[in-house]
Amino acid sequence: MSGFDVLVAGGGIVGMTAALDLAREGRSVIIVDEGRHSGTTANAGSLHIQMQSRFIRMYPEQVADLERSLPLYPAGAARWRELEAELGADLEIKSSGGLMVADDAGQFAFLADKCARERRLGLDVHMLERAELARIAPYLGEAVHGAELCVEEGKLNPLKANEAIRTTLQALGVQRLDETVITALSPAGHGIEARLSHRGGQRSLSAGQVILAAGSGTGQLAAMLGVTIPTVAEPLHVNVTEATAPLIGHLVQHAERMITMKQLGAGQVVIGGGWPARFTGPEEFPTVDPASMIGNLSLAQHIVPRLGSLRVIRTWAGVNTTTDGQCVLGKLPGHDNVFSAVPGDAGYTLGPLVGRMAAALAMGRDPGHDIARFTPARFG
Ligand SMILES: Cc1cc2nc3c(=O)[nH]c(=O)nc-3n(C[C@H](O)[C@H](O)[C@H](O)COP(=O)(O)OP(=O)(O)OC[C@H]3O[C@@H](n4cnc5c(N)ncnc54)[C@H](O)[C@@H]3O)c2cc1C
Repeated sequence: MSGFDVLVAGGGIVGMTAALDLAREGRSVIIVDEGRHSGTTANAGSLHIQMQSRFIRMYPEQVADLERSLPLYPAGAARWRELEAELGADLEIKSSGGLMVADDAGQFAFLADKCARERRLGLDVHMLERAELARIAPYLGEAVHGAELCVEEGKLNPLKANEAIRTTLQALGVQRLDETVITALSPAGHGIEARLSHRGGQRSLSAGQVILAAGSGTGQLAAMLGVTIPTVAEPLHVNVTEATAPLIGHLVQHAERMITMKQLGAGQVVIGGGWPARFTGPEEFPTVDPASMIGNLSLAQHIVPRLGSLRVIRTWAGVNTTTDGQCVLGKLPGHDNVFSAVPGDAGYTLGPLVGRMAAALAMGRDPGHDIARFTPARFG
């Protein structure tokens, strides 16, 4: 049995960025990752700041909490920009603004109400009528009536970001066990012992502290220590088109329907937004649902008609994590050396910030934000 200062359970964006901060402060860190369900390797690269209408409509009971979490999103995007500079890599981060478009006066009124609430909460958001919108976003089709502009919103390229972080972790000497499942966690002396399974082989390792950054697997890991964290795995769909000349400058969303669109630096348009995928087979593998592909692409063309002439080169499904809409961040009740680190909605945007706050907690430092309401103890 080998000992580490910190075991990071889950090597997604939260686990990797927590490990980064800990390793930079001289902690010996090991990341263990099952490598099966990860939002980090499947996400669409939107840097979300304004409230997504999808959440307001699907979970109206969570709106008050979403609004209280709103200040975290600009901080999350700012942390990404810092991280890009620290890594010395081009992650294609662009804060070129986000447009949430409306098809009619009713949707425009819904956005105007949302915009007013968000302005009161400090966001730089504005309503744009059709003529003004056409000037800054000529690629939008005739069907678009108006939009809410969130000035700080943007995008990044997750493939580049994940690669750059992994390379830096390796250079810092952070160990990473891939395709390895944590099957048991138990207190041992002053630390924690973890049982690991890798392609049928079993082993143990011990660590002084554990950060549970396992996305939808966090609930299962917390349960091993007698703590409830109700993480739910939500399979979602993404399409990407062939490359084209610069077309879409903003992150584009819709007031009523699920969509996000953005163009990567190399010209491909990534079209996501939370259309459902499904789990199939004994491994419950996230699998594309053709109905989502058609629905997502039809909506994309409705908003940006020029997309109709592009071919889709790839489509995939990945697993998002939901809880109650807010981060689950803090010490596990009854375990002073175990911390949960699950971002709220738009978890890739929040990932490096949540990773940083989890690392600060593990080092006994101030996380820099009021995280009292994110405590895992709220689930009883
Ligand atoms: C299709 C899709 C598109 C998305 N688009 C966006 C977007 O555009 N913008 C945005 O902000 N967010 C987006 N998200 C959400 C975002 O990707 C996630 O919220 C974010 O990646 C969560 O990061 P994480 O590190 O908490 O968890 P994950 O990335 O899910 O990583 C958790 C890791 O833990 C590992 N794990 C789980 N259980 C165990 C175990 N028992 N033992 C060992 N390892 C374990 C898993 O293998 C996984 O690698 C999207 C999600 C999906 C699925």
